[in-house]
Amino acid sequence: MAQLIDGKHLSNQVLQDVAAEVERLRAEYDVVPTLAVVLVGEDPASQVYVRNKVKRAKEAGMGSIEHYLGTETTQSDLNQLIDRLNHDPEVHGILVQLPLPSHLNEEEVICAINPVKDVDGFHPLNVGALAAGHASLVPCTPQGCMIMLRQEHPELSGKHAVVVGRSNIVGKPMAALLLQANCTVTIAHSHTKDIESLCRDADIVIAAAGQKGLIDADWIKPGATVIDIGIHAIEVEGKRKLVGDVAFDSVADKAGAITPVPGGVGPMTIACLLLNTTRATRNQLA
Ligand code: NDP
Repeated sequence: MAQLIDGKHLSNQVLQDVAAEVERLRAEYDVVPTLAVVLVGEDPASQVYVRNKVKRAKEAGMGSIEHYLGTETTQSDLNQLIDRLNHDPEVHGILVQLPLPSHLNEEEVICAINPVKDVDGFHPLNVGALAAGHASLVPCTPQGCMIMLRQEHPELSGKHAVVVGRSNIVGKPMAALLLQANCTVTIAHSHTKDIESLCRDADIVIAAAGQKGLIDADWIKPGATVIDIGIHAIEVEGKRKLVGDVAFDSVADKAGAITPVPGGVGPMTIACLLLNTTRATRNQLA
């Protein structure tokens, strides 16, 4: 049975560091790091994510400002709000929960956020900084995955990592971070041929395809490390359950280490969001 990489435990450690940094910022500058969260529409999964982010921010001693906007919100309304938050000296981080309702342009929204307050790390300036190897605000999910990976592999250099998925917010930044850690990186996507054999060759498999149970034990080299980023809500015997992109039970019998869903990447993502908020605060005060 694979070693379980416990995202809850690790995220608590990160959150303790965050709380300590919040205290230092308060003592040094008399400032409370503050995260503004914007949610547009009624998507139930997004509502849960936002609630959790706000709750954890408060627990870490941060300020939080929430803006819940109706589905009918226009691009101009949203741009105006972002502009206000960009210029508000008491707001240090801005997060617009994605996905947005389909009439809104996500790209435009991401570009409207001041890069120094872009705690998701999605602004093109932060994406470019990551590609160039000197990013300060790194996308939260891949950042959390790297902390989990280093738990298993303090030295990642020379490992072959396959990232399944190439989205701007997960797959691509994940690949950039692995490359920075001197892994040999293969990026697979929906057009990739024979993904199974690519994965079977990997020391590390990162599952970020958004396809429930896509990766099963046949894809995995014995002893490999498997990080499951996927989140899917399913119903089992009338009860809601979360599962990932990895067929957990079969893969756990073959892998060396694996992240569970829930309790894996999810909590790390939130912890890294708050870590980015303290970084953004310090950058703005320096
Ligand atoms: P996207 O849908 O934006 O991207 C999915 C990627 O996977 C695309 O690059 C797509 O390829 C590729 N893909 C889809 N199907 C296959 C397949 N059968 N084989 C190989 N590649 C495939 O998703 P996201 O990156 O935003 O999210 C991925 C998953 O991670 C989702 O389940 C999401 O809910 C979850 N997630 C979890 C987070 C957490 O905190 N745990 C945070 C963010 C996301 P192509 O580009 O060719 O279309």
